[in-house]
Amino acid sequence: MATAQESSPIDVKRPRPRVLIIGGGFGGIYAARRLRGADVDVTLLDRGTSHVFQPLLYQCATGLLSEGEISSPLRHLLRGHGNVHVALGEARSIDPDAKVLTASRFDGSDFDLPYDYLIVAAGMRQAYHGHDEYIQWAPGMKTVDDALAIRRKLISAFEMAESLPTAKERRPWLTFAVAGGGPTGVEMAGQIRELATHSLAHEFQAIDPSEARVLLFHGGDRVLQSFDRRLSAGAQRTLDKVGVETHLGVHVTDVCETGIETTSGDQAGIKKFYETRTVLWTAGVEAVPFAAVLADALGVTQTHGGRITVEPDLTVPGHPDIWVIGDLMSLKDLPGVAEVAMQSGKHVGGCIARMVPGGSPDRRPFKYRDFGSAAYIARRQALLQAGPIRISGFAGWVAWGVIHIAFLAGYRNRFGTLLNWAATLATGSRRERAITYGDPESARQPYADPSPES
Ligand SMILES: Cc1cc2nc3c(=O)[nH]c(=O)nc-3n(C[C@H](O)[C@H](O)[C@H](O)COP(=O)(O)OP(=O)(O)OC[C@H]3O[C@@H](n4cnc5c(N)ncnc54)[C@H](O)[C@@H]3O)c2cc1C
Repeated sequence: MATAQESSPIDVKRPRPRVLIIGGGFGGIYAARRLRGADVDVTLLDRGTSHVFQPLLYQCATGLLSEGEISSPLRHLLRGHGNVHVALGEARSIDPDAKVLTASRFDGSDFDLPYDYLIVAAGMRQAYHGHDEYIQWAPGMKTVDDALAIRRKLISAFEMAESLPTAKERRPWLTFAVAGGGPTGVEMAGQIRELATHSLAHEFQAIDPSEARVLLFHGGDRVLQSFDRRLSAGAQRTLDKVGVETHLGVHVTDVCETGIETTSGDQAGIKKFYETRTVLWTAGVEAVPFAAVLADALGVTQTHGGRITVEPDLTVPGHPDIWVIGDLMSLKDLPGVAEVAMQSGKHVGGCIARMVPGGSPDRRPFKYRDFGSAAYIARRQALLQAGPIRISGFAGWVAWGVIHIAFLAGYRNRFGTLLNWAATLATGSRRERAITYGDPESARQPYADPSPES
C-alpha cells in the first residue's frame, strides 16, 4: 500500500521540457529572456560567444566603435537566467524524430543536444548570388569578423597609398567601391567619406585622404528603396553633398583583386571597369547554411533567399515543436529587421512559457507591431520612417541615435558608444583603427559548411 508521502504529487518527478534555441542574435536573445524563470530548461546555442548588434557593424568597420562596444558576451547577458544555459557550437544536423540536434565545436568534434521544443533563430548571411569567388576581394557585413576585415582593408588602403610614389599608383588604393544601395551600403559609403574627410584628413603627409573616391553601385533606380521616395531622395542629396558618387541601375558583373566591373541597363550592357583595391559587398542576404539542413530534415522547401515559411504561430508546417523566427522566417512580407526578430523571439518565448504543465505551448498567432526603421546617412543626417511619420536631417539623426542606444545590449556598451560618438562629433577623430591580420577566409565560415546530406 502506498504511503501518503509516496502518493504525494510533489514526489512525481516530471522532467522539465527542454527548449533549445539556435542563435543568440536578436531573435534568440529575446526568446531566452522571455523564458527566464519559466518551468523549462533552456539551452541557447550559438557559433559565436557574443550577441552582435549588427546595425552598428559599419561603425566598427570604419574605426568609430570597437568590436566590444557593439557586442556582448552571451554568457554575461544571460548570467541571471538560472534556467538558461549557453552552449558554444555550430548546429550542423538534426533528427526531428528523435528530437536531437547535433552541433560541432570549434575543433570539429560533435556533441548532441536533445530537445522537446526547438526555436531556430540562426539569421542570414551575405549573399553573393552564385559568385562566392567575390568573397576574397569583397567582404560582406554580417559578422564582427566581416567588420574587422573591412576595417583592415580600409585602413591599409590609406597606408598603402601613403607609401606609393606616384598619384597613378595611389589612385586605386584611394578608390573605394560599395556594392548595394540599401541601408548598409549607404551607411558604409557615407562613413568612408567621413573617415577620409574628417578623421584622417590631417594625419598623412604624402596623400590627402579627403581625395578618396567612394563609388556606390546599386541595381535599383534609387537608394534606400525600402524607405519613402522623398526620404530616399533626401538621402541621395546628402550622399552627393558628402562626395559619394552614386551609380544607379548598375549591376556588378565581376570583382577581382584590381577592381570591379559593372554593366548598366541603360547602356545596352556596356561593361565598365573601375580600378580599386577596396570593394565592399552589401548586395543581398541569404539563409545561413543550417537552414538548408533543417529544411531537408523537416521536408519543407525554402523560399526567397532560403528562408523557411512558417505558420501564423511561427511553427514550421507539420512540426508544432519547431519554430523559426527572426530573419530566417518567411511570414507574409515581414522585413528582415531587428524589431521583427525581437518581437518574434518574445512571442515564441511567451507561447512556451504560458504552456500549461504537461500540456502544449500556446498557439496564438504572431502579431507584428511596426515601429518603423531608421538609416544613418552622414554626420548629423539620418532618416526615420515610422507609420505616417517621416523625419530626416538633424532630427532624424537624433531619433536614429536614441533608437540605437536604446537597443544596444548592456549599459556599459551604451555609455561607451555615447562617449565615442560625442568625442568623434567634437573632434572628428576615430580611435578604433587598430587592425589585425586574421585569415580573411575565416570571416566567411570558421566552421566547415554543413551539407544537407551530412
Ligand atoms: C550591417 C547591418 C545593419 C543592419 N541595420 C539594421 C537597422 O538599422 N535596423 C534594423 O532593424 N535592422 C538592421 N539590420 C538587420 C538586423 O540586424 C537583423 O534583422 C537581426 O539581426 C536579425 O536577428 P536574428 O536573431 O534573426 O539573426 P541574427 O541577429 O543574425 O543572429 C543569428 C545568430 O545565429 C547564429 N548562428 C547562425 N548559424 C548558426 C548555427 N548553425 N549554429 C549556431 N549558431 C548559429 C549567429 O552566430 C548569430 O548569433 C542590420 C543588419 C546588418 C547586417
